[in-house]
Amino acid sequence: MTNIADDYLEPHYIQRSNWLRASVLGANDGILSTASLAIGVAAASDFREPIILATVAGLVAGALSMAAGEYVSVSSQTDVEKADIDREKQELLDMPDIELVRLAEIYEKRGLKKETALTVAKELTAHDALGSHIRDELGINDVSQAKPMQAALASGASFTVGGILPLIVAIFLPLQNMEYYLYGFAIIFLILLGTIAAKTGGSSVTKAIIRITFWGTVAMGLTALVGYLFGVSVG
Ligand SMILES: [Zn+2]
Repeated sequence: MTNIADDYLEPHYIQRSNWLRASVLGANDGILSTASLAIGVAAASDFREPIILATVAGLVAGALSMAAGEYVSVSSQTDVEKADIDREKQELLDMPDIELVRLAEIYEKRGLKKETALTVAKELTAHDALGSHIRDELGINDVSQAKPMQAALASGASFTVGGILPLIVAIFLPLQNMEYYLYGFAIIFLILLGTIAAKTGGSSVTKAIIRITFWGTVAMGLTALVGYLFGVSVG
């Protein structure tokens, strides 16, 4: 039997949020840290090779550390969720009556009358006690459940996609004023990304663009300064 509501279901922003957040964060980081690195070296060197070398090294190191960091942090979240679920399982065995009352109280707080809440709690407990407690008491559901490998791959891949853009600039654009090409293209890529993220996430595009342009300029500007000062001191 088809569920009529499903035909009209528009996916909510929250369902996109997990992979979106990881992907945008990764790509943002890829563009900004790789472009900053390339700008720093371009400000200190008159040759293309060191710029390309630094950009490739930054891209590989950044993608791997991003993926590893995301994997470790999401795995620890998975560990916490698993420990909570195991404890919940035990509590349902040890004190089913108290757990039933606890579930009913949760539904009451959500607005159900006391009797209705208890009826719902009884029926859901009879249907799937652990599932109901995991979802309604612990707040763990399919959308929010941590998936370490998925998150790590999304972060590593999006960092790589982001970082490849400044690399293309470093390889193909004229060496003269390379810092400005790297900065200009990085800001364009960041604005595009910020716009996509804001539109997909249902938030303000203008705010996203101002935020990303400001912090992008600060990061790349400071790295260029360091590279320039370094270039002067060794030149
Ligand atoms: Zn419980």
